[in-house]
Amino acid sequence: MDTPLLISSIATHAEKFHGGQEIVSVTADNPLHRYTYKKSFGRARQLANALERLGLGRGDRVATLCWNDYRHFEAYYGISGAGFVCHTINPRLFPEQLVFIINHAEDRWIMTDVMFMPLLEALADKIPGVEGIIVMTDEAHMPETTLQNAVCYETLIAGESRDYAWPQFDERTAAALCYTSGTTGDPKGVLYDHRSTLLHAYAAVAPDVMSLSSRDCVLPVVPLFHVSSWGSPYSMAIAGSKIVYPGPKMADGEALYNLLDSEGATATLGVPTIWMALLQYCRQSGKRLDKLQRTIIGGAAVPRSMIQEFRDVHDVEVRQGWGMTEMSPLGAVNTRKGGMARLSGEEQLDLAVKAGRGIFGCEMRIVDEAGNELPWDGIAYGALQVRGPWVCSDYFKLDGSANAHTGDGWFDTGDVATIDPEGYMAITDRTKDVIKSGGEWISSIELENTAMGHPAVAEAAVVGLAHPKWTERPLLVVVKEAGQEVTAQELLSFYAGKVADWWVPDDVVFVDELPHTATGKLKKTELRKQFADYQFPA
Ligand code: ADP
Repeated sequence: MDTPLLISSIATHAEKFHGGQEIVSVTADNPLHRYTYKKSFGRARQLANALERLGLGRGDRVATLCWNDYRHFEAYYGISGAGFVCHTINPRLFPEQLVFIINHAEDRWIMTDVMFMPLLEALADKIPGVEGIIVMTDEAHMPETTLQNAVCYETLIAGESRDYAWPQFDERTAAALCYTSGTTGDPKGVLYDHRSTLLHAYAAVAPDVMSLSSRDCVLPVVPLFHVSSWGSPYSMAIAGSKIVYPGPKMADGEALYNLLDSEGATATLGVPTIWMALLQYCRQSGKRLDKLQRTIIGGAAVPRSMIQEFRDVHDVEVRQGWGMTEMSPLGAVNTRKGGMARLSGEEQLDLAVKAGRGIFGCEMRIVDEAGNELPWDGIAYGALQVRGPWVCSDYFKLDGSANAHTGDGWFDTGDVATIDPEGYMAITDRTKDVIKSGGEWISSIELENTAMGHPAVAEAAVVGLAHPKWTERPLLVVVKEAGQEVTAQELLSFYAGKVADWWVPDDVVFVDELPHTATGKLKKTELRKQFADYQFPA
C-alpha cells in the first residue's frame, strides 16, 4: 500500500502488459516512424543512463524544445523516471520569454529538435547556465552548429545499456515543469510532482473523462510542450493505447486527416483552432472521419457549430474539456449523464457547449466579489476557484508572491463561470476579458460562439472597447470563410433571438486573420491593442 506513485511505474506496467503496442510518429527525419512500447521504454532507460552519466542530480532540470514525436515521449519517461525534472518549453514563445524561462528554471541541458537550433543559437550567450544541447536526431541528420557542446541524441543513447533500475523515491519529488504563457508579466512556472502526475493520469483514463483503453488509437495534437499534452503520455501508457504523433504537422488539416485515417485513430486531443483546419479540409475535399469516435477539445471555448459539425457530418463525439497549466491541466470534461441521451439534438448541443462537469479530484466553487459562494443554478456567475491533489499550491520559486490562492486554500483560476444544478460548469469569460456594459457583464465567449454558427464565419472574436455612455461595448471581429460573403448588418441580425438585445455587438470589423497565442488561443490582449483607437459608429 505504501508504494510511491512514480512515473516510472507507468513505464514498467506499460512495457510488461502492452509491450507490443505501437507508437507511430511523423518526425523531421522520418515521415512515418513506427516502433513498440517495449522499444520506447527501453530507449527511455538508455536515456536515463546517459543523463546520469552527464552528472545530473535529483531534481535537476532538463528542458525539451520539441514537437510531438516518439523521441519527446522517451524524454518524458527518461528524464522524470530517473528523478530529474522534465521542463517542457513552448518553442513559439518570444525569444525574451525563452531566455527568461530557461534561466529561471536553471535548465542544465536542453533537448531540442533540429528545427529549433537556430533559435537556440541566437540565444546561446544569454543562457550561460546551460551546459549542453541534445539534438533529437541521428548522426546523418546532425546539422552544422555554433552551439557549444551539442550532442546527437541517437549517438548519446546508443552507447548506453537498456538495463536501468528506475530509482525509487518519495512520490512528492518534482517530475515536470511547465511555464504559463505569461500574457501579463513574466511567465510563471508550475512544478508537477510524481504523485500529482499519476493521480491526474488515473483520472484522465476514466470513461467520463478521456475514456482511454488498449483498444484505442490516440492522436494527441495538443503539444507535449503544453501542460504535458494534457497528461496524455501518462494516461495513454496506463491504458496501453496505440499512440500516433503528428510531429511538426500539427496545424495541417490534410496531413492530420491522412494520419487519423490511415492509422485508424479512435480519439484525438487538441485546441479548437486545430480542428478548424481539419474540418475545413474535410469540407473542401468531401472526406469523412469514419474511424474517429471522439475528440477531446479544450484550452478555449469550443464553438457550438464545431460540436455540431463533428456530430452531424462525421458522427464524432466532441468532449469539451476545461483546465489550465496550474491544474495539470484537467478540471472538467463534458460528457452526458445517464438519461441525457433522451435530450433533443438542440438540447444536447446546449449542454455540449458548456465546459463540463468537475472530475473527481478537482473540487470547484464560484464566488462573488466578497468571496461568498454562489448557487449552482446555471445563472449566477462568479470567480471560479478550484482545489485538489493536482492543482498547484504555488508557482516555482515565487514563494506565494503571485497571490493566486485564497486564505482557505483555493486556487483562483481567473475565469468567470456559472455552474448548473447538474454540476455542468460554463465559462463566461476570463476575468480580464469580461465586457462590462452599463454595470452588467456580457459574455464574449457566448457572442463568439453565436457568430461562429453563421456559415460565412470562419473565426470570430469579441472584445470590449471603451464606450462614452456604457463604459464598454462589444466589438465583433470576424474572419470570413473562404469564398463566402456576408455584411456586418447580416451578422448583427443573426444575433436576434439568440442573445439578449443589449448584448448584440455595436459593430463588426472584418479581418484576414486573428492573433493567436503560442498555444493557438485567441490573443485578446493583442486584439484590444489593435483596436485601441477604434471608435464605435455614433
Ligand atoms: P495559458 O493561461 O498559458 O493560456 P492555459 O492552457 O493554462 O494556458 O489556459 C487556461 C485557460 O484557458 C483557462 O483558465 C480558461 O480561461 C481557458 N480555457 C480552457 N478551457 C476552456 C474551455 N473549455 N472553455 C473556455 N475557456 C477555456
